[in-house]
Amino acid sequence: MAKVTLPDSGILTITEGASLKQVAEQIGAGLAKAAIAAKINGELVDLSVPVTGDISVKIITGKDSEGLEIIRHSCAHVMAEAICTIWPAAKLVYGPTVEDGFYYDIDLDEPIRPVDFPRIEEKMREIVAADKPFIRQEMSRAEALAKLAGDKYKIDNINRTDSNTISFYSHGDGFEDLCRGPHVPSTGRVGSFKIMSVAGAYWHGDPTQKMLQRVYGTAWPSQKELDEYLMRLEEAKKRDHRVLGKQLDLFSFNEAGPGFAFIHPKGMIIWNEIVEYWRDVHNRFGYKEIKTPIILNEQLWHRSGHWDNYKENMYFTNFDGAIYAVKPMNCPGGCLVYKTRQHSYRELPMRIAELGLVHRHEASGVMHGLFRVRQFTQDDAHIYCTPVQIESEVIGVIDLTFEIYRTFGFEDFHIELSTKPEKHIGSDEVWDVSTTALKRALERKGINYKINEGDGAFYGPKIDFHIRDCLKRSWQLGTIQLDFSMPHRFDMVYTDEDNTEKPPVMIHRAVLGSFERFIGILIEHYGGGMPLWLSPEQARVLTISEKTKDYAKIIFDKLKEARIRSVCDLSDEKINVKIAKAYSEKLPFMLVVGPKEAQSSTVNVRIRGEKENKTIKIDDFLKIARGKISSKEINLALEIDG
Ligand SMILES: [Zn+2]
Ligand SMILES: [Zn+2]
Repeated sequence: MAKVTLPDSGILTITEGASLKQVAEQIGAGLAKAAIAAKINGELVDLSVPVTGDISVKIITGKDSEGLEIIRHSCAHVMAEAICTIWPAAKLVYGPTVEDGFYYDIDLDEPIRPVDFPRIEEKMREIVAADKPFIRQEMSRAEALAKLAGDKYKIDNINRTDSNTISFYSHGDGFEDLCRGPHVPSTGRVGSFKIMSVAGAYWHGDPTQKMLQRVYGTAWPSQKELDEYLMRLEEAKKRDHRVLGKQLDLFSFNEAGPGFAFIHPKGMIIWNEIVEYWRDVHNRFGYKEIKTPIILNEQLWHRSGHWDNYKENMYFTNFDGAIYAVKPMNCPGGCLVYKTRQHSYRELPMRIAELGLVHRHEASGVMHGLFRVRQFTQDDAHIYCTPVQIESEVIGVIDLTFEIYRTFGFEDFHIELSTKPEKHIGSDEVWDVSTTALKRALERKGINYKINEGDGAFYGPKIDFHIRDCLKRSWQLGTIQLDFSMPHRFDMVYTDEDNTEKPPVMIHRAVLGSFERFIGILIEHYGGGMPLWLSPEQARVLTISEKTKDYAKIIFDKLKEARIRSVCDLSDEKINVKIAKAYSEKLPFMLVVGPKEAQSSTVNVRIRGEKENKTIKIDDFLKIARGKISSKEINLALEIDG
């Protein structure tokens, strides 16, 4: 008998050689039905694997992220079989999972077109209905190479692994693919799927190689989850910030500067509101603000290490016989400010913020509206502190970050901690102390976090902040990075209590990351209907007829006086036309005024996103709206108290 330890520390005794499927059955019929793979001592394996000796086992279902990946990757095999059945000349190259789905690179001279997708899906459904088992076969590297003779893609895949045992997976009737696995038990378990798109892709991204066809698909444990995903995609299309940015006249791009955003007056209102709020929060959290030059000479970038590590992404300019670089980051300029005078331990921690305009050259293919630009404003800051201050400083940054995200209406975030990579500078001791400080800060805040082992920067460990928007898309925004390199490169010191000079710990941090990108995210999250405090136009006065023009002007003056950004639409259009226009501009409030309202000093308010309109006293409206603006409330409902 073998002892199997379960995730809840329960112990199961099972016959030596029984399969993991039987382990799942012994735990419960429901789990056995949902099971698609398992983990033995932390390693993912097929359910058919036999139990040998005492082990720990976790049964994996489609609810686990690993399970979802296995479903998607198995679905890629099913799609590959379908494609090879339809086009026997197709050669399979490589089929990994990606966010929300999978793809398979195919070498086939005949183009696969979107009109072919239903045909491929039909074939896939046949394979799924047959519910054929995924069978693993293992052999030595030499045997595998002999078996695949002539297939340059698969031989290349083998040459890229260092394992001596090579595995293949087949699902009946001769279809077989080189694969490490694991897989779902049978083709009936690949969930609900859809082929999404096809694009050209070079083998290993190398343009000198043949162009392959990359067929993308998505798969989910249930039809309901697939439908929800497809709906989110539809919704994302409607919320595309590039479309809304144009429709709402917020920003534009021009071929005169690809990747450089032009922010229009309405976009600048959003921008400046964010800046004003950002300054206020940073002031409260004890930051001081600086501004450093955009262009600095070559020597500085040698000293900072950017010349050696980042040159390909930098812009350069030449004058007076010298080379200057346009800054891709604000840190070196910040270091020069630090070095303008001596510092004592009593001054630490120093928190120095900068809304720094940086330029980074991105390939033209990766640019995407405001999400990926070549010029952006970073909400940067550098904290200089002593090693013992790291933990409390990190806690301060976490508090400030969460406060900012919540103010913008984001409540769903997750945190990742990246630790020491193989290539790094600084002693193991320094890394230990600082990584522990980051962990303790997260634990003291009671925050669940994921550890990315070995994923830190070469100069220090880091924490990344991710938010999820209303379409469940994840965005990495903020970061906290410890840096053991820069203070040395710039000979930065402070005088300690014992009168010796020591390098300060330098913490780089950003909360929003890039203003441009963050505004793009806000536009998509809110579908263009910005929170009241950020709305370029917060209220519009609409007259029903000529007769109420004077009353409308009085209302408009009151709005201006209350510092509520507004416009008065006195045009002769029909009221329904005016309302439709205001509605398409996604204004928070429309104030309709007719003779009845004029007589009673009221306004008839239409609220964005609400069906009911409400007639209230103009003074009540001003008071409520003003209150919502200053408290940055997201909810627009007008509750009248008293
Ligand atoms: Zn596979
Ligand atoms: Zn920095």
